[in-house]
Parts: sequence; structure tokens; C-alpha cells
Amino acid sequence: MTELDRRQASAPAPSGWTYAPAPESREVVSIEERYGLYVGGEWLEPRSQEWYETISPASEEPLAQIAQAGAEDVALAVDAARGAYENAWSGMPSARRAKYLFRIARILQERSREFAVLESLNGGKPIRESRDIDLPLAAAHFFYYAGWADKLEYAFPNRRPGPIGVAGQIIPWNFPLLMLAWKVAPALAAGNTVVLKPAETTPLTALLFCDVLRQAGLPPGVVNIVTGDGRTGAELVKHPGVDKIAFTGSTEVGKAIQREIAGTGKRLTLELGGKAANVVFDDAALDGAIEGIINAIYFNQGHVCCAGSRLLVQESIVEPLVSKLKRRLATLRVGDPLDKNTDVGAINSRGQLDQITELVESGVAEGAELYQPPCRLPERGYWFAPTVFTNVAQSSRIATEEIFGPVLSVLTFRTPEEAVEKANNTAYGLSAGVWTEKGSRILWMAQRLRAGVVWANTFNRFDPASPFGGYKESGFGREGGLHGLEPYLEFE
Ligand code: ADP
Repeated sequence: MTELDRRQASAPAPSGWTYAPAPESREVVSIEERYGLYVGGEWLEPRSQEWYETISPASEEPLAQIAQAGAEDVALAVDAARGAYENAWSGMPSARRAKYLFRIARILQERSREFAVLESLNGGKPIRESRDIDLPLAAAHFFYYAGWADKLEYAFPNRRPGPIGVAGQIIPWNFPLLMLAWKVAPALAAGNTVVLKPAETTPLTALLFCDVLRQAGLPPGVVNIVTGDGRTGAELVKHPGVDKIAFTGSTEVGKAIQREIAGTGKRLTLELGGKAANVVFDDAALDGAIEGIINAIYFNQGHVCCAGSRLLVQESIVEPLVSKLKRRLATLRVGDPLDKNTDVGAINSRGQLDQITELVESGVAEGAELYQPPCRLPERGYWFAPTVFTNVAQSSRIATEEIFGPVLSVLTFRTPEEAVEKANNTAYGLSAGVWTEKGSRILWMAQRLRAGVVWANTFNRFDPASPFGGYKESGFGREGGLHGLEPYLEFE
């Protein structure tokens, strides 16, 4: 039993239930002391000779030394990807390419427990989520795009689809392996090769994925992984040998990337921030809506770009809804990500915790009313209690800025027109939710909400066949479905 487990076991659950700790075993993963860069199918020492430490955000325990790739390292990776593109991958019969993707999908399924534990350890998300959501979806993306790999001519009839070349892919830390799958699977299915940079705080599952590539016998250089912080990402963006950049991350960095590659002819897709409205009408099934609201904002500690962080409630039901919500909030278990009972895990990094804290303080200073259920947070690591703000002014920072943490802002509306106007009153447009019994109202709302995805009577549902992406400052380009193949193809 770790110290964290002991502390949790002694903390009474606020609901009155007591839970025995049910930690998932760490034995299934073995972590190297340090990792080099995966280039051309080999592990290379970084030319930069720079390293940094990756930790577990739940305990601040050091896990491994990670290479900080410099310009020379990125250039080697791009060269390896170019060589594999020209000599192995782009000319390979597409049915054979599909075979490799199917193999990767199956190996991910077989090794899913190992990956799930590592994901929770390095990123802080509850094992329940990495086991039941991240891993099955990552494998599903490889299965889905494996299916398209030899059918591109049918997917895009009369358009003669062909690959682009080398794709530079930069991903964030909130869904490390899943974002890798979203990026790598369509790129390979379309016949491109890849240089991928994972986020600096969560490199371990991407590095374990290299082992899957070897197991699958993927030709060397088809996928290359370079680790490091934003400087490594910037080197990848500006390398002239990269034909396409796919980026998921903050709007600020997305804008900088767009500026950097303007005029170079490189293709670009951006999946950026969000401030989604989750709209609850007075005829909604309230208990179901409560579960949806909880899922929309506390899933993955709110580290979700499509999180339903602005709750818009019809005025006549705001009181019963908020009181039910507070009661439900008190039953959430916050703590050890590896415990199978945990609902809300650790905040991913010290920097992210500071950002959440600063925004929550601004909410209090601007006059909103804060509620946090009684819950005991572990002393070590990075934690933030699930939070609800009521009396939120539309113009306040907590109603307009992306918090990327377990913090919900409740606003109200009276008419459907007002709901639409408030929901769209944001610089972002990634997702939205609607809760109502009326099918006609769902369609009416979906036509008017300026968001890439609109969920009705549910939230945070993902499927590889369904395109995902944003409007306005949430970016452009789609991932998932046939739409997700297009950015990786050139048409004659
Ligand atoms: P977040 O705020 O969610 O950490 P970032 O946009 O900072 O989002 O990070 C997302 C990814 O972009 C990470 O892999 C990060 O290392 C990378 N990154 C950060 N700065 C840059 C940059 N200037 N150019 C390219 N990639 C960058």
C-alpha cells in the first residue's frame, strides 16, 4: 500500500460510503531509466545531449530521463521519414500497409493494460478512463483507418487520392496515446510517413508505442518519435523537409505555428482550445443531465478541449439542478489515478495547476460564487477539487477563457434564442451539448450552434468514424472519419 492509498483509505467518502483502495498493479509496466529518440527504427542518443525528467503528477515521483531533441535530432528524424516514404511506404501495395495498421491495432489491444497503467502513471488520469476510454479508442482508430487504407479510391471516387509525404505531428498531454492514434493512423493509412512529438510531460506511452511498431515489423523510419518541449516542436514546424503539420494544443501556439508556416506551402490542420456550452432546457430528464454535466466537465480532470465548461441552464430549473449537481459532486472520489475507484485524478503538471488556480481566483474576485465539495486532497502531487461557480457574469474570465481543469461555470437563459446567443458568444467553437426531451429542439439548436460537434442528451462521445474539429479559434481541419483522411491526401 502506498502512502497515498493509506491516506485515501482513512479519508471518509463524503457520500457516507467507504471504499477500500483498489489500486491497479504497476508490475505490468517496466520503465527504462532513460529514453533516447526513436529514429529510423533505432533508439538514438540525442545529439543535443540534453535530457529532462518526466514524473508522475500524482506523487511527483521521477519516472525516467527523456531526451530533449534539438534541431539536428529533428533533422535526422525528418530524413529517416523521407527515406522510408520514398523507399518503403508510399509505393507499398495499400493492402500491405493496411496489414501493418491492423497489426498495430491488435497489439495495442493485447497490451492495453500495460499502456493504461503507464498512461495513468505519467499523466495523472484515472485508470478507469485510460483503461475503458483511451486504450479502446486508440486501438479502434487503428482498426478504422486500417480498413480504409486499401479503399481510398472508393472513399474518394474519381479524385485519385495519393499521399503527401512527411507529416510532422505535435500532440498535447491530455490524451497522449489517443492523440497519437488520431494522428498516426490516418497519416499511415494514406501512405505518408511521420515524425511525431509527444507533449513534454507525457512522453512515456508514445515511447512504449515504439515497441509496438517493432513488434508489428513496421519498416524503419515510417514512424519516428522525437521528444522534447515546445522548442523541439518549433524545430519540427520549421523543417523544410516536412510537407504537412498536424497540431493539437493551445490556441496561442496554434497561431504561432500558422504564422511560421505561412507562405511555405506546407499543409496544416489545427485542433485548438474550446469553451463549450452545455445547454440544459427545462424539459430535460434532470438526473440524466446531471450525469452528463459531470462527465462533460470532470472527465479527465477537465483537461479536455471539448469539455462542457459553460453550463447554460434554463432559469426555471436552475435551483433544483444546481442542488442536485452539488450533491452529485460530493460523491466524486478524487485521488490516486491508479485506484480503480477514482473518478478525478491528478492535475497534469505544476504549471497547469497554477493556471487553474489563477483563473479560479479571478472568478472569486469577479464576484462569482464558488462551491467545492468536502474532499481531502493528497499532500504530494498536483490536485484540484471539483469546482462549480454560480452567479457567473458572461463577460468574466471564467466564462470566456479556457480553464482546462475541473471547473464549471453556471450561467442561465430564458428562451432558446437566448441560449443560442449565449452559447455562441465565445471565441471558440469546438463542441456543444443540448439536453431536452424535444427532438425538434435538438435539431433547431444543432443548426444554430457554431461548434464542430453537438452532442444531444449525452456528452464526450467519440467514435473513429465520426469527424471531430473546430470553428473559429478552435482551429480547422477534421480528425476521424473520412474527413480525417483528407488532410493527409493529395488529389489529382
Ligand atoms: P498546453 O497549453 O495544452 O500545454 P501547448 O500548445 O503548449 O498546449 O502544447 C501542445 C504541444 O505543442 C506540446 O507537445 C508542446 O510541446 C508543443 N509546443 C509548444 N510550443 C510550441 C511551439 N512554439 N511550436 C511547436 N510546438 C510547440
